[in-house]
Amino acid sequence: MILAKVKLEPKRKFGRKEGCRRCGRRRGMVRRYGLRLCRQCFRETAPSLGFRKYS
Ligand SMILES: [Zn+2]
Repeated sequence: MILAKVKLEPKRKFGRKEGCRRCGRRRGMVRRYGLRLCRQCFRETAPSLGFRKYS
């Protein structure tokens, strides 16, 4: 039955249970390039992924 599936569902703001896949926090997530990283980890990981700072 489909009805069984309908339970009180809080408004999903973000739709993700996981946070950053590196450190697990959910603040400042960067999902831009399909990464699931927080901003801090993104900064650390980006260079190795080929992203560079364009200054
Ligand atoms: Zn992180």
